[in-house]
This record gives sequence, structure tokens and C-alpha cells, in this order.
Amino acid sequence: MKFANLNGERLEPAPKLTAKCPFCESDVIARCGKLRVWHWAHKSTTHCDHWWESEKQWHRDWKNLFPNEWQEQGRRDDNGELHIADVLTPKGLALEFQHSAIARDEVEKRTAFHNDICWIVEGARSDTG
Ligand SMILES: [Zn+2]
Repeated sequence: MKFANLNGERLEPAPKLTAKCPFCESDVIARCGKLRVWHWAHKSTTHCDHWWESEKQWHRDWKNLFPNEWQEQGRRDDNGELHIADVLTPKGLALEFQHSAIARDEVEKRTAFHNDICWIVEGARSDTG
């Protein structure tokens, strides 16, 4: 994740920071290495959104085209199931940036969940991210 909560602020990861997940409020640790984009990781091994995938620079570049407050917004269905949209516009349109291969039924499930959704799929495969 790009954002976590610390002292009432929505912060991007920086070395050695610990903060809270904005969705489940569990502890998240800033991962600021050289190989992957800097991100917040849940201290426990499980992410509160089981649809969440690790991000590449490609995801960040897309997200960054939109205002920060639109990025990584959670949505819950009537059963309380949580999923985090890469971007959620104020009008309720979810944008999902999909880098890795995904099964058709997964796409259908996620589309049904968000209802108002636009998929942006990377067509050019690149192993360097
Ligand atoms: Zn969480």
C-alpha cells in the first residue's frame, strides 16, 4: 500500500516507520528496499484485502495520475467484505490497475463487487516492472 495512518495523517512509507492500516487498523511496517517500490506491509502476514497484490512501479505511475485522496480507497459490501480500489473517484467509479495475469472469474467477481469499475490492464508484459 502507498498510504497508512500515523498521528492522524495519511503518510507514504519512509524508512523505519510503523503506522496503522487505514482499513483494518492493524500495524503496518514501511518497506523501503531497493528492489520493490516503497510500500506499507501488514505486520501480520495477511493483508486485510485478500485481493491485494504487490505493487510495481507501473501501478504507482497510474495511481499518481490521480489525486492522493482518490487513491487506495476501501469499499465494503453489505456483508462487510472489504476491498481496496486502486483509485475511487468521488462519483464512485473504481479504477483497477492490473499488471499480472488474472483469471476471468476473478475479474467478474471484482467487477461485480465494485459494479462501477474501469479496468486498466497492462498489455506489454515486462519482467522488470
Ligand atoms: Zn489492513
